[in-house]
Amino acid sequence: MAPSVQSSSASNSSAKTNIGIIGGGQLAWMMGPAAQKLGLALQIQTPSKDDPAVAIATQTELGAIQDVAVTRTLASHSDVITFENEFVDLAALDSLAQSGVTFAPALSSLQPLLDKFDQRSYLQKQNIPVPQFIALESIPESDRPSWQNPFGFPVVLKARRLGYDGQGTSVIKTAEELKSVLDREGFAPFLLEAFVPFERELAIMAARSSSGNIVTYPVVETKQENQVCAWVLAPAAISKEIEQEVAAIAQRILTGLNFVGILGVELFQTGNQVQVNEIAPRTHNSGHYSLDACATSQFEQQLRAVSDRPLGDASLTVPAAVMVNLLGYESARSDYSSQREQLAALPNAHLYWYGKAESRPGRKLGHVTLNLTSADRITQRQEAEQAIAAVHQIWPTA
Ligand code: ADP
Repeated sequence: MAPSVQSSSASNSSAKTNIGIIGGGQLAWMMGPAAQKLGLALQIQTPSKDDPAVAIATQTELGAIQDVAVTRTLASHSDVITFENEFVDLAALDSLAQSGVTFAPALSSLQPLLDKFDQRSYLQKQNIPVPQFIALESIPESDRPSWQNPFGFPVVLKARRLGYDGQGTSVIKTAEELKSVLDREGFAPFLLEAFVPFERELAIMAARSSSGNIVTYPVVETKQENQVCAWVLAPAAISKEIEQEVAAIAQRILTGLNFVGILGVELFQTGNQVQVNEIAPRTHNSGHYSLDACATSQFEQQLRAVSDRPLGDASLTVPAAVMVNLLGYESARSDYSSQREQLAALPNAHLYWYGKAESRPGRKLGHVTLNLTSADRITQRQEAEQAIAAVHQIWPTA
């Protein structure tokens, strides 16, 4: 099943039309209607024929995300290759880039981002605020027996690569707990960082075209539960100053990386301070609301940027919107048709069901966006809370 289709078309004779996408999950699936609108053919590389985007792809190359031989085949019928999943083997992809394959974003733009330690180090060098951090394996062997965590407790331990939805991230409360993790795992490729007692988590989507134009989406508030995104409120109830600072950070990141495409920046807000937690170099869960609440969705925007089309208007078309993730709460093979019907019948609701074959606790199975009507940000926050509660009357939390 494809996401709902919008009408009208925009074409540009010099622009690219065959778009290769590495990854075939829900993020690629949600590009389907935008591709149709823009007259683009989407070819995907994904491991399983059951993956959501197989349904909207004009061609599917089955294979692991890291399998560069499969990407070579994908490239043979694509004008450009972009990403819905960044768990790629950059060194292997570089051989394709050397032989003339175009990637958007370029591999050099992704290079500093794929490892959480490299990403933090890159941002710090750009003078963009980040939590304090160290790479555990950088601590000399001789110092390890007497080594003390410099950040106090709680402290956050993160796998440097391949983490998502909080997998690979743990909040450690005591020295004993940290010692037992280090005894078990060694000073392996971990990032250790100060726990930020944030007031709110914020996020922003921002896109940059090949000619260097940038558009930024509204700053949103995100709520993580058990380190997985539970809901997103657009726009966030924050001051103009913070809004401008977050947009400026996103612009600096895009320009500094010479990035072509779309990226999501996740941040912690504590009083007047913001710190970047993470950059996702692709569309992101915190931008799903844009499908139903912005003039141009994040999915259309990515396709516009990577196919050399002009970027679209990223502003809200409604006063506010809240997106609630539908996370698996059991291991099952149900299509939850009755709950889906009830969710779709909520006021101003837009339901997306990713069509995954299996449900597991915490797995993202779909989302619902509810457009809100209140005019001011305080009331929007209250209206959002009621809308989230209405969703959870129908869809339990894990
Ligand atoms: P992932 O890459 O798996 O999404 P993140 O690094 O973004 O993992 O962390 C997931 C969530 O864990 C964050 O959204 C936040 O709620 C919490 N978290 C991560 N790092 C910190 C930190 N340094 N201080 C406080 N909370 C954190």
